[in-house]
Amino acid sequence: MKITAVTSHVLQCDMPEVLGYSQQFYSRRTAHLVEVETDEGVTGWGECFGPGNIALANKAIVERVIAPMILGADPLDRDVLWHKAYNLMRDHGQKGMPLQALSGVDIALWDIAGQVAGLPIHKLIGGAHRDRVPVYGYGMMLQREPVDDLVARFAEEAAAIREMGFVAAKMKVGLSPADDIRLAEAVRRGVGEAYPFMVDANHCYTTPDAFHVGRALEELGAYWFEEPVAPEDHDGYADLRAGLTVNIAGGEAEYNRWGWRALLERRGLDIAQPEVCALGGISEYLRVLALCHAHFTPVVNHVWGSGIAVAANLQLLAAMPPLPGAMHPREPWLEFDTTENRFRDDLLTEPLNIQAQVRESGGSVPVPDGPGLGVTPDRDFVEAHRIA
Ligand code: CA
Repeated sequence: MKITAVTSHVLQCDMPEVLGYSQQFYSRRTAHLVEVETDEGVTGWGECFGPGNIALANKAIVERVIAPMILGADPLDRDVLWHKAYNLMRDHGQKGMPLQALSGVDIALWDIAGQVAGLPIHKLIGGAHRDRVPVYGYGMMLQREPVDDLVARFAEEAAAIREMGFVAAKMKVGLSPADDIRLAEAVRRGVGEAYPFMVDANHCYTTPDAFHVGRALEELGAYWFEEPVAPEDHDGYADLRAGLTVNIAGGEAEYNRWGWRALLERRGLDIAQPEVCALGGISEYLRVLALCHAHFTPVVNHVWGSGIAVAANLQLLAAMPPLPGAMHPREPWLEFDTTENRFRDDLLTEPLNIQAQVRESGGSVPVPDGPGLGVTPDRDFVEAHRIA
């Protein structure tokens, strides 16, 4: 079996409303899919993390840098191809966009391997530790409106996410420490006592500001405080984890086993959030997962993107061993964006229907059990939204 084509599809659409996080507002949604074709008619799909112009640059890395390295090779040699591509790109970037691009290719090769074996990816990894995965809903994005309006909207949206059946809710912060604490108070009011909520700062704070906000989050009983400081600031993470009782979460902007080893050894994370579409694909995710568990750090995958990314994460969450083993272990959650996302909801020939499943089941979704990723993009939909 030989790889005959590697194509990247960048999809884009306008969003119904402008949304923001601590770094920027955005009005367009992007999805970057990778398609790997073979001489035996089997086609695999993957996805690269990275919005907007980042996706266009990653497309060039996929098609002009990685594709020539692997065309003609056996797609089942995915670990050989991973190392060939990484070793040849290493001098030009051990983190960031080369790894995002490689991730999409690697996921597509796993999809092919599953289709050839006639098995879902979780079976290739070693089996499902669970057949359903609990889902948490994130929303409560920043918008261009006065703080008082945002406070009122966050309280309402938090209540709505709980009402939809999600097992927990996650909010954004990033106005100022004082206003961010007001937003967190509103979310606690919205979800009521005892319901878990999490706070995502997208690395907008200095360590002292993160301590200030973190202490307020402890008072409010927040479950985790995500990316409080810059991803490079491993010492800041370690100081916050040592000084706060709220769980410190992060890692979506960390790459490959070597980046993760440094982050984990510094002991700055209570909860690790690897992003399979960025850190190097499924091959590298499995190595990072083993490293996290070797440090007794629980993993809750970072999930962003289209139905392909969600399906890949469902496969990985199914195959994740409990940490530690127990009769009633804490289960990993699927991260789910509750804002409008047609690339997730309308892309697949058979939609995952996450929202409906969550509503009907009281908070969980089944793991796709078809071969490979268990999902297929609709060609007409891809073509209709493709910008490059
Ligand atoms: Ca995040």
